[in-house]
Amino acid sequence: MIGLNRMEQITIDATQMVAHVGAGAVTADVQTAAERAGLFYPPDPSSQTVSTIGGNIACNAGGPRCLKYGVTADYVLALTAVLADGTIVRWGDGLAGQGPTNGLAQLLVGSEGTLAVITEASLRLIAKPAARRTTMAIFADLDAACSTVERIMAAGIVPAGLELMDDTTIAAVEAFLKIGLPSDAGAMLLMLVDGEPEQVDADAAQLADLARAGGALRVQTARDAVDEANLWKARRVVSIALTRVRPNRLGEDISVPIPQIAACVRRIKQISLEYNFPIVVYGHAGDGNLHPNILFDGRDPNDTERLWPAAEAIFAAALALGGTLSGEHGIGTLKRPFMRHALGDDLIAVQQRIKAHFDPQTLLNPGKVLPEAS
Ligand SMILES: Cc1cc2nc3c(=O)[nH]c(=O)nc-3n(C[C@H](O)[C@H](O)[C@H](O)COP(=O)(O)OP(=O)(O)OC[C@H]3O[C@@H](n4cnc5c(N)ncnc54)[C@H](O)[C@@H]3O)c2cc1C
Repeated sequence: MIGLNRMEQITIDATQMVAHVGAGAVTADVQTAAERAGLFYPPDPSSQTVSTIGGNIACNAGGPRCLKYGVTADYVLALTAVLADGTIVRWGDGLAGQGPTNGLAQLLVGSEGTLAVITEASLRLIAKPAARRTTMAIFADLDAACSTVERIMAAGIVPAGLELMDDTTIAAVEAFLKIGLPSDAGAMLLMLVDGEPEQVDADAAQLADLARAGGALRVQTARDAVDEANLWKARRVVSIALTRVRPNRLGEDISVPIPQIAACVRRIKQISLEYNFPIVVYGHAGDGNLHPNILFDGRDPNDTERLWPAAEAIFAAALALGGTLSGEHGIGTLKRPFMRHALGDDLIAVQQRIKAHFDPQTLLNPGKVLPEAS
């Protein structure tokens, strides 16, 4: 086991608009340091107050803002990493991201620690948006919310966040926070726009109109920073609020094409009935990334027996709708058995050759991501 948490140095080069950070730097600390210099580091996984830049790069983390700004990979300009044989490499130019070894730096992004141990990174920063506004829309049912997501994406606005929560998620958050969310709502969208103040006003008004046209029962635009923070708090506490519904949860992470979100959610709700589990759905709907969570009781053998078949049915639904096994959390050990189904033998063989080249003795994260060679 390798702990990198003390490699937490953060240096902001405001002229070059780059952050040079240790792999153990906490994501939220990098964001705060960038914002103190008037700059912006967009990737914002909901785990940002505890996740590290090394982990974010290893999993190519996303988050609500990634719909507009891209994922961690889009911000990696250079990496320092230790290879399996102990060689220390520095790949990427750390400047504009066009140098001859940038491709090698990107190869490590999303490799989940199976190719090298990342120790440092140079991350692209951008100008901090001057204004932001969040609008919440409550719908009677999930279908109306999902078709509103489609309308928004087709309307040419690119929100800086477009988050979906289903009825059970809303009720759980309300029970936890007591901030006045209607606990009988069928679905909720949180829609964030940012940029120049005039454009933000126009985009927020258009989003509110689109939500009303999509059948929203209630639309509320944040009036100030406190309102704004409360709305996002509702999204950020989802994981913890759900643990009060049932003692355990299997948090899933699939992606489907935007026009398939409604079909996918309908299929997940069917799976919930077939396997007799509450399965809640929330996620970054603007990029089709859904987090179905199976709520169960780990002490009950009846529950644990049905758990994996239910999870498999969700993975199968995502793949059948043209989606992916993982949107942002990665493959790890959980989804490893499904990799061959998702990628096919030829692509798996290519990845196995890359792994064998980097790590012939399988020292790095053995048993993760790739199935055994067949
Ligand atoms: C409540 C909650 C909310 C989450 N929300 C999101 C979200 O919105 N978006 C999202 O993308 N993810 C999310 N995640 C998943 C996870 O937090 C992120 O993927 C994060 O990037 C992991 O970072 P970490 O530092 O916690 O890594 P760890 O969990 O410690 O490690 C993750 C993997 O990366 C490898 N790794 C870690 N550091 C390095 C390194 N320096 N070099 C090589 N390999 C390394 C580890 O071996 C492991 O395989 C969430 C998780 C939780 C618990």
